[in-house]
Amino acid sequence: MEELSKLAESSIGCTLCPLAEQGRTQVVFGHGNPRADIMFIGEGPGSNEDKQGIPFVGTAGKLLTQLLETIGLEREDVYITNVVKCRPPGNRDPKPEEIEICTNRYLFSQMDLIGPKVIATLGRFASSVILEMKNVAMGSIHGQKFIKGTHLVVPIYHPAAALHSRANMKPLTEDFENLRLYVEEKAAEEQRILAEEAQVENEVVLDEEAEQMGLF
Ligand code: SF4
Repeated sequence: MEELSKLAESSIGCTLCPLAEQGRTQVVFGHGNPRADIMFIGEGPGSNEDKQGIPFVGTAGKLLTQLLETIGLEREDVYITNVVKCRPPGNRDPKPEEIEICTNRYLFSQMDLIGPKVIATLGRFASSVILEMKNVAMGSIHGQKFIKGTHLVVPIYHPAAALHSRANMKPLTEDFENLRLYVEEKAAEEQRILAEEAQVENEVVLDEEAEQMGLF
């Protein structure tokens, strides 16, 4: 995972977009297992994240950790990052130009380098960016599977939404359970493909051996 480390290193002190000059303390690149099966993507760093340099460390982050525990995972098992890596002032939404620059420079490479089995987008904003959808209604799409390029993407409620309204806790908990199932499904699918490839390879070798022995 040398390439991911190099990318993280290259982000330190980044000045590629206007967010560099709008009061950020530091770039919050991402945190967790570089070979994670699940990658979480939020909107952008908040005040706590900006101070500590780690994504999802506030109250919503604590809930994320608890939800992970319900499916037998710890924070260190997954990878957590955001659409933009610098805190927008006053917690405003990142602007299109900032999103375009930051995702093209960092996020899309992170997704490819980590290659998780499932990418979970946290909340409406991150989901609309990754799924390239306008007017995303989380109530309709949360927990569903979408294919974006080579990635399986599952939009889920932002943990902050469950803190804001307890009614969102049930679907969020169910979506975490679904994430676990989707990872298992993807792992089984990858195993099946590997087994098929090995079988084809084996048949080719047997054919070549038979040919060499003059059996054809
Ligand atoms: S938001 Fe992204 S592109 Fe903009 S300065 Fe921060 S790291 Fe660089």
